[in-house]
Amino acid sequence: MPVTPFHIGAGLLFKAYAPARVSWVVFALVNILIDLEPILWYLFTGDPAHRQLHSYLGATIVAALGVWPGRRLAEAWLRWWNRQLNPAQARWLGTGTQISLVAAWAGALLGSGSHIVLDSFMHPDMQPYWPWAADNGLLRKIPVDGLHAICLAAAAWGGLRLALLGWIKLPASFVGNKLRDAARLAEIIVLVTALWVAASFSILPQLLDGDPRDAVAFDAAVWRGTAAQQWRGNPRAPMARPAVRHLEALHPNRATALVLLGTPDARDRPAYISYHLGFLGWLAMDADTLDIEFQPDGTFVAARIVQH
Ligand SMILES: [Zn+2]
Repeated sequence: MPVTPFHIGAGLLFKAYAPARVSWVVFALVNILIDLEPILWYLFTGDPAHRQLHSYLGATIVAALGVWPGRRLAEAWLRWWNRQLNPAQARWLGTGTQISLVAAWAGALLGSGSHIVLDSFMHPDMQPYWPWAADNGLLRKIPVDGLHAICLAAAAWGGLRLALLGWIKLPASFVGNKLRDAARLAEIIVLVTALWVAASFSILPQLLDGDPRDAVAFDAAVWRGTAAQQWRGNPRAPMARPAVRHLEALHPNRATALVLLGTPDARDRPAYISYHLGFLGWLAMDADTLDIEFQPDGTFVAARIVQH
């Protein structure tokens, strides 16, 4: 996706830099609502499709729902959270239960906007500018593992900063304005460096081990015999690139491809057939597919590995 917890973790960064002005709970709520879309499509059709809610327009409508009635729900959730804490825990983990309208809108719009930006890098079926344009200029500009690493680094940084804000209260005079400005600048430089290192580190395993999707020869019988829901150690994954090369050489029409590869896993797209490859990434959070595209008359167009 990057799966929803990664989106929500990235929200800690916004919360850490503007604690009173951004509601993290509304941020999280909006992200969960947006990702109900591919989850429901997956449950009903086998295809985790990203449609209207994964566009700036659709996500902004979800953001409005996050403000109303979501803000009231979020406040109720915060009251419930406070009730779970004993007095000692409440000193550290207790929180205000009022969410201002500004904080709700900030959380909702940052949540929906960042969701669409992050997902645009990943999902080839997304149309972020729907209904005005069909293209997506960000696709694959950052690899999926890189996105996950960036989200993790943002969550770690934001979480650490929030913890420090809660535990260390320096009097303003102790720090002094100049020193504080310098510290902020240094902090931002370190933050940008940390995100950059996280992004580059994520492609290291691929550089060291070679492409794990190109490890064994394509074997059509093994491919057909693989259960669709095998998420880990899916035998299709290491033969995915050889399968793409095989299909590109063969140029099978739709009927031939179905005989060769067996029943596809995604059922509702006329232009594609799609086969799950299971989890393969460094963080094992992706769910790749091999998608084969055809013309309406069944002529082969292209075969490609798609990260979800
Ligand atoms: Zn999403």
